[in-house]
Amino acid sequence: MFEVVAEDLLGRIGRLKTKSGKKIETPVFLPVINPVVQDISAKWMKENLKADIVITNAYILYKRLRDEALKNTVQGLLGFDGVVMTDSGGYQILEYGGVDATPEEIALFEEDIKTDIAVPLDVPTGLSDRRRAEESVEKTLKNLEATLRILHSREDKNCIWVGTIQGGVHLDLVSYCAEKVREMGFDMYALGSPTPLMEGYRFSKLFEMIITAKTSIEYGKPLHLFGAGHPMVFSFIVALGVDMFDSASYYLYAKDGRYFTETGTMKLEKMDYLPCICPVCSRTSIEELRGLSMKDRIDAVAKHNLYVCFKEIAEIKQAIKDGRLFELLEIRARSHPNLYQAFKYIMGRDDLLNLMEQHTPIYSRRGINLFDALSLNRPEARRAEKRLLENIFKKRAKRYAVLVPYTMKVNLEKIEKDLLKASLSEYDLLLYGSPYGLIPFQIKYVYPFSQTVFPQDLVLEERVIDIVVQQIENAGYKELIVVEARSPYLREAINRIIQKLHDKDVKINLTSLK
Ligand SMILES: [Zn+2]
Repeated sequence: MFEVVAEDLLGRIGRLKTKSGKKIETPVFLPVINPVVQDISAKWMKENLKADIVITNAYILYKRLRDEALKNTVQGLLGFDGVVMTDSGGYQILEYGGVDATPEEIALFEEDIKTDIAVPLDVPTGLSDRRRAEESVEKTLKNLEATLRILHSREDKNCIWVGTIQGGVHLDLVSYCAEKVREMGFDMYALGSPTPLMEGYRFSKLFEMIITAKTSIEYGKPLHLFGAGHPMVFSFIVALGVDMFDSASYYLYAKDGRYFTETGTMKLEKMDYLPCICPVCSRTSIEELRGLSMKDRIDAVAKHNLYVCFKEIAEIKQAIKDGRLFELLEIRARSHPNLYQAFKYIMGRDDLLNLMEQHTPIYSRRGINLFDALSLNRPEARRAEKRLLENIFKKRAKRYAVLVPYTMKVNLEKIEKDLLKASLSEYDLLLYGSPYGLIPFQIKYVYPFSQTVFPQDLVLEERVIDIVVQQIENAGYKELIVVEARSPYLREAINRIIQKLHDKDVKINLTSLK
């Protein structure tokens, strides 16, 4: 049903096949369609955005368009032959305090209208206090059980059934709920209630919720996130292992005159230009856009907002294929200080970084760009660092090492004759000035050492200095001959390394090769 075809961090390209044989590729963004008004139709989305999946609300269909949906199926009603997911009405509970339908009624209805991916009637936690959050989790679990019970009697099922995980900001409840749902055996999972966190720019909390849910379910099953708001967080939620997410914000924001960019939102009345060349923006000017009737203006901005969302998904997918999702996060993190803060928060979680390392390919077809200390947390860098420490710089037979700047053209004969006046076989020949620490000369072309691009002052980061010191200590060198570099950064780095080694039993000779 679900197959992972490429991975980077916890992000992945996957293929999901529905019960009727339709296929979609993940990660995927599902525009929310209000089935009654259909402001922007699913058909339009298919024709203009190549959307192959949308989400609509089963409860609204059940209350307002029941007969039509039963007669024509949900796809027929939407005029859309792609994959349709139906949310259950849980959102209405959050907004209006209740629904008058049972989980059993909604479940059978979703099967009968031939929904492709169906959500049981759950009870979203939202930003509830502890007591109400516990209640919402218990009620959700009860509803999920009731849903599975009623479905048990049906022979042929039309829907992929989604187990919803609630608990909100109470992470222990999220993991409790996820584990209970896991025991029930759903085909896929969905995590609820992030919208208020997104609106409050509480990204660290949002990411914590996702990490908690993700690590409590099977890795091989798809994870959906409800209400994933703004394109500036898409790359993050994908990197944390979310495969699908929906949002109505393209329309809600448009109603409020707010225009999406990949990194934020702009108010139409404060804009001088349209910084986009989507089919909407390339055919109009900001003045013309503002001059439209309210209805047409909302329609135009909502369509633009959708283009931005779909473009961002394409960028994310290409980044996964290229093994540079981390670099996209580094760029997107600069969208907002809170997002940058949240990025630093996830980079500080060793458990998460280890997990990302397990799922990131050993080799990628593109080189690696490192920018700053945060970049050193990317899986390729952590792996290279560990590999050097564990495989190369463990107790070595040689007592001596010659350290040469990695920028220098190394002439082995000259080093033997002029510098050592002895055979190099007595020495380890190491390159310094790499963000991975010291690199043995023989493996300098091994991935990722020579495929890494970085600013020279990166070697002055405390972490890099410490790696070099640790490598020297692990190897147990007694004497180092250091060929001085021209670069002031490398000279400073060596000085700091020498300072850190001053009370250790290592003799260091600085020299220059004439
Ligand atoms: Zn546009």
